[in-house]
Amino acid sequence: GARLLVVPTPLGEATDVSFRGIAALERCDVVACEDTRKAGALLAAVGVERKGKELERHDAATARASAARLVARMREGKVVALTSDAGTPGVSDPGSTLVRETSAAGLKVVALPGPCAATVAFSATGFDAARGFCFLGFAPRKTSKLESVLAEAALRPVVLYESPKRVAATVGALADLDAEREVVVARELTKTHQEVYRGTLGEARDWLSSAGRARGEFTIVLDAGVAAAAGAAVDEEGDLLPLAARLL
Ligand code: SAM
Repeated sequence: GARLLVVPTPLGEATDVSFRGIAALERCDVVACEDTRKAGALLAAVGVERKGKELERHDAATARASAARLVARMREGKVVALTSDAGTPGVSDPGSTLVRETSAAGLKVVALPGPCAATVAFSATGFDAARGFCFLGFAPRKTSKLESVLAEAALRPVVLYESPKRVAATVGALADLDAEREVVVARELTKTHQEVYRGTLGEARDWLSSAGRARGEFTIVLDAGVAAAAGAAVDEEGDLLPLAARLL
């Protein structure tokens, strides 16, 4: 019956959609998407017939109105599949409004597992996640905010999204704050020109400065700092969290 299926879509490689993701797209009556042209291309790429399906835009600009329309469709018994341009809806992407409204209307929400740049990038790092890792969405621009990011990364690795326009500036500003910090810069994950660069922030700044490098899509993963390496002793004394709180 009526429900919202949250369907992660490929980051670049069409075969990364899951069997269940394809089944969800096949089964749905309506595809809620950021961009109807891209959603049409996705359906074609994964071999799902578009005919008979409605494509409804649900992005930041249309969120409230389109969520109301989509909830009304589900109340009529329709199945809606929520997608974004790439990766997992609701993760630095539109979608949360529709998920919230669907849930508030007492309708079922089923979230499917699938591609997400943050987790793909983190799994390529090999960084210790004994204390978990922290996803902070798009990197802040202000130096003071980047200091807070490094404070967060005192204890556990931190994953950041960044645009190609800003990636060199952001890595440069982070290097000014802590040039020796280990970092992985993941570029164009799952795509032809995929690169996973590993080094210190200082080295990554140089790597990004070479011609044409700062093109494509980037995810930055900072390793935890010396505080995490100090490990158990610090935990026992219990004085690390107040320190992080002070820096934040
Ligand atoms: N919801 C998406 C997800 O789950 O992966 C993220 C959407 S967010 C608007 C787009 C950002 O994700 C990009 O600016 C980049 O930082 C990151 N990203 C998306 N695709 C990527 C890729 N193939 N390689 C590296 N980073 C990527």
